[in-house]
Amino acid sequence: MARFTGKVAIVTGSSNGIGRGTAILFAQEGAKVTITGRNAQRLEETKQEILKSGVPEDNVLAVVADLASEKGQDELIDSTIQQFGRLDILVNNAGTAFLDSQGRTGLDQDVSDFDKINMRSVVTLTQKAKKYLIESKGEIVNVSSVAAGPQAHSDMMYYGMSKAALDQFTRSTAINLIQHGVRVNAVSPGAVATGIGEAMGLPPGAMEKMMSFFESRKECIPCGKIAQPVDIANIIAFLADRKLSSYIIGQSIVADGGSTLVMGTQAHNLMEVIKN
Ligand code: NDP
Repeated sequence: MARFTGKVAIVTGSSNGIGRGTAILFAQEGAKVTITGRNAQRLEETKQEILKSGVPEDNVLAVVADLASEKGQDELIDSTIQQFGRLDILVNNAGTAFLDSQGRTGLDQDVSDFDKINMRSVVTLTQKAKKYLIESKGEIVNVSSVAAGPQAHSDMMYYGMSKAALDQFTRSTAINLIQHGVRVNAVSPGAVATGIGEAMGLPPGAMEKMMSFFESRKECIPCGKIAQPVDIANIIAFLADRKLSSYIIGQSIVADGGSTLVMGTQAHNLMEVIKN
């Protein structure tokens, strides 16, 4: 029997990137999955990818919703319960990228662009899902980011702040909900090849350029490789699998190819530097 057989999962932000990879993995591992995003066409692509891998159509529910609104959140929870009758796993993954809706970086960005979806929507969706997760003694996995700190991220400070707030929410809800048998954890990815560049409105090829710049510099990514969505999906599945991770409560697993362990100077070979 597959490890998530009999479980029902909601994966937010599953019309693209990490969420899509996670929804596909969960469905392949036996879960009934609600996929969701604002973009109906991309959501349909996720659904077709799931079905292509042999998952029965009855196991997938697609809900087009804007999670920045409580109406969208209610639709997501209500239609999942209506279709599948329970909720075991909530993956709070939907999130914005680094530029704000006007394409700005740094201090001048609109803080609410990040606050609304990366943090507040996670809070209210968790509140709405709570009673169902208590009934099932379920799991929550939040998708944070290494941008939460402790390093500064001056170009994308509100993104980083929203993820830092999310980390504190993970820790605090974990203690709040474990008394009811619900576990809460998170994953903090470094750079992952997803649709995030397109979501930022970057021109075609710009994201690839940034990725290969990072990959070629060990002070950026010591392992020399950008992650793929499945690399993060595997960690989310681990944290949602009580048989494997039952004693992990309120933690965030960093998956960043070593990025946060190095500082620019440390990454260079000092013997090479003094030779020239
Ligand atoms: P993508 O842009 O590929 O996916 C983002 C997803 O979030 C999409 O499915 C999008 O759906 C959804 N989403 C965004 N805003 C809303 C909204 N208002 N309502 C409903 N859905 C929404 O990005 P990633 O896969 O990279 O990002 C997923 C998570 O991973 C985010 O929380 C991000 O911060 C985090 N992360 C990503 C990293 C990376 O390098 N890629 C690094 C660290 C963390 P739609 O457009 O259809 O609404």
